[in-house]
Amino acid sequence: MTDTALMPIPGVIDPVPVPRDITPRADGRVDLIGLPRERIAELFAKAGLDSKAAKLRAKQVFHWLYHRGVTEFEAMTDIAKTMRPWLAERFVIGRPDVVEAQVSNDGTRKWLLRTADGHDFEMVFIPDADRGTLCVSSQVGCTLNCRFCHTGTMRLVRNLTAGEVVGQVMLARDALGEWPKGTMAGFDDDNLSDAYGEDDYGRNYTADGRLLTNIVMMGMGEPLYNFDNVRDALRLIMDGDGLALSKRRITLSTSGVVPMMARAGEEIGVNLAVSLHAVSKEVRDEIVPINKKYGIEELLQACADYPGASNARRITFEYVMLKDKNDSEDDARELVRLIKQYKLPAKVNLIPFNPWPGAPYECSPPERIKRFAEIVFDAGISAPVRTPRGRDIDAACGQLKTAAEKKSRAELDRLYAEKEAALG
Ligand code: SAH
Ligand code: SF4
Repeated sequence: MTDTALMPIPGVIDPVPVPRDITPRADGRVDLIGLPRERIAELFAKAGLDSKAAKLRAKQVFHWLYHRGVTEFEAMTDIAKTMRPWLAERFVIGRPDVVEAQVSNDGTRKWLLRTADGHDFEMVFIPDADRGTLCVSSQVGCTLNCRFCHTGTMRLVRNLTAGEVVGQVMLARDALGEWPKGTMAGFDDDNLSDAYGEDDYGRNYTADGRLLTNIVMMGMGEPLYNFDNVRDALRLIMDGDGLALSKRRITLSTSGVVPMMARAGEEIGVNLAVSLHAVSKEVRDEIVPINKKYGIEELLQACADYPGASNARRITFEYVMLKDKNDSEDDARELVRLIKQYKLPAKVNLIPFNPWPGAPYECSPPERIKRFAEIVFDAGISAPVRTPRGRDIDAACGQLKTAAEKKSRAELDRLYAEKEAALG
């Protein structure tokens, strides 16, 4: 992007280009998606409203944007008819472009999305009997290069903006038809409490029975290398007058960006998942190279210090099962020992490795995974084995990678060497 500032991030390999909260558009209008109330009010004031009106309108517009999901100012029925064209001349309500939508034979859906400046990224929806989980991306590509992860074979193209992160969830609600329904008939322009009215059929709308119930920041990218935008997007998602999803239903997964973990707990406060994947320095250095910067001890200490972790809200340790690499009985016992040593309220998610073309590993055989799970479970730690979902459409964990970024083996080796050198 041309219009970016460089944000220094502790431990990052290169400064990551961070687009400003407002991405300039050719038509001069401003996309409101991704902006909080206060920022919207500022923009309304700058466009000529007095400060009281700007605040009130911002509150109304915020509700329509994030709680009701409207995509036209004309639909904002509690805003005076003359005001709506005024808004439409100056502002837009954006969504990422959908390039392609695929459905797996197990019901998993994957969307290939495109940013306004032409970068592709992906999001995945995984329906289950008792929940529906949206797997959201935080970056186009990834600076890290975990060796078992297809996204890691992409360069980082750029961080997604807060609007592009929250835009994924909004798009999913559009696609699933899950915005609260209803008109604002009889709504008093100046009385905002009326906004929580009845719908067309006289019913009060409710959040029950939704398909999309949970969000995991486990798509493309490392969310803690795009901290501000991910935090701002998650705040809109958790806002009771925004998308209104409870923080207990949101999980952020990190490969172990230790210096940002405390802030994640304090400023976002969602559930934490940590991509541990190995219990010795040697193996973790190889498969999760950020380990060379922040080692296992430091990482587990940051987990022990994570604000909000408790037996009721456990930290999830993700552990990808790689044949003959990290899947021995000794590895399982060492994992238990580490969790106990740091007194972590933990559960372990065992993820069978999802293969991709050219991947340097194989998945552990089922008996090995079963044995590993038993050892952890017998030590009193929950250790479910995750069923791979959406493999047939390359939607499973670690398979996300956009076609435009596919590289030859020689290019991959060069890229790995570059990333390794940068990590030192
Ligand atoms: N960058 C963050 C979040 C995205 S990855 C992180 O690394 O935690 C989400 C999860 O999928 C991580 O635990 C990641 O290690 C795992 N994963 C990556 N590639 C995988 C693969 N090929 N098979 C199974 N899991 C994989
Ligand atoms: Fe990046 Fe996560 Fe993949 Fe590692 S596992 S390369 S941090 S997306």
